[in-house]
Amino acid sequence: MEFIYSMPTKIYFAQDAILKNKDVFNTIGSKALIVTGRSSAKINGSYDDIRKALTDTGVNYILFDQVEENPSLETIEKGSKIGKENNVDFVIGIGGGSPMDAAKAMAVFIKNPQVNIDNIFTSGKLDSVPVVAVATTSGTGSEVTQYSIVTSNKERTKKNLGQSIFPKVAFLDSKYTYKLPYDITVNTAIDAFTHLVEGYLNSNSTNMSDIYGEKGFELFRYCFEKLINKELSPEFRSKVMMASAMAGIQIAQNGTSLPHGMGYPLTYFKGLPHGLANGVLTIEYLKSFKDQRRIERMLSLLGFSHLDELESVFKSLINVKLDITVEEINEYSKKFFSNKDKLKNHTEEVELEDIVRIYSKSLLKD
Ligand code: NAP
Ligand code: FE
Repeated sequence: MEFIYSMPTKIYFAQDAILKNKDVFNTIGSKALIVTGRSSAKINGSYDDIRKALTDTGVNYILFDQVEENPSLETIEKGSKIGKENNVDFVIGIGGGSPMDAAKAMAVFIKNPQVNIDNIFTSGKLDSVPVVAVATTSGTGSEVTQYSIVTSNKERTKKNLGQSIFPKVAFLDSKYTYKLPYDITVNTAIDAFTHLVEGYLNSNSTNMSDIYGEKGFELFRYCFEKLINKELSPEFRSKVMMASAMAGIQIAQNGTSLPHGMGYPLTYFKGLPHGLANGVLTIEYLKSFKDQRRIERMLSLLGFSHLDELESVFKSLINVKLDITVEEINEYSKKFFSNKDKLKNHTEEVELEDIVRIYSKSLLKD
């Protein structure tokens, strides 16, 4: 047995986690850049809790609340400029993956004033100012990963910033998700589930990472049933948040693989929300494995005896009808196949035709 395991983020998972642990903030810095999306943080209570905690502990702050879904490098540059002008010494990202990822990227830009939108991908390994993450969706696991997924309009794609930016602290309080609309709850839960799947069926998987994957599947046995029955109780909210964090810890070790890489153009060019973009490809991806043994283990933890049962769950939760052509599929497949980053995480040999087939069977049926 051999593994490397690293999880440097300190996680506070509790009801009222922020206010109960507010003394954390003045150990991190004296002035924060708070990064949020346009409105949800102000409605679900997370922004108020952060403001109260900072005020109580004498930490100053400035707000940047303009992060869009799938944050662009332009927005990241704009937010980091405000951070630099105001001499902040740490960043607090509140939201779904978009504000948390934008906050992480801004933390790199703030620490390294020579970095800009044009040289960020060629600047080598960079440090960042500390990041605090407050998750308000249960999906990306960004609060416990080193990744920051950004939209590069220049390259017309989404991609990882390429830096390692683990938040110093993550606050997980499921009460912020109580009013998350059903469709976003489903899309983000599917994202968490695909992290579990891709992190588990991964050439980097280890006995240690399997602990997170397998426990995550057990939690999803419960979560899928509740999602299908639309029973979104506080218990469900807490369990899906836990599953999402476990999935994040697993992909922080192993990375994601085919559905995530193949899903990026579906988001960039077709506007599909991130979780759906992976989810729509997942069943055909699972069917493509020649060796189904680990998939059988995964299915048994989910309480299924056959992949068809998972397929029915997916059919009842997601219904994606995309206007897409064979030419577009060929173009996305070639681009994906030329980037070995995700392919190397897949446990089996794949050819370009396999990628084309997964896209086509997932998106061209009916
Ligand atoms: P999101 O893009 O952050 O947010 C989606 C929508 O949900 C927004 O309209 C947002 O509103 C709203 N929202 C967020 N929290 C809410 C709440 N508690 N109640 C009501 N509405 C709420 O969605 P996401 O799926 O969490 O994040 C997706 C991004 O994360 C993608 O860019 C994806 O590539 C990335 N990602 C990152 C990692 C990683 O490890 N770093 C992993 C997977 C995915 P507001 O805009 O008003 O806040
Ligand atoms: Fe994801």
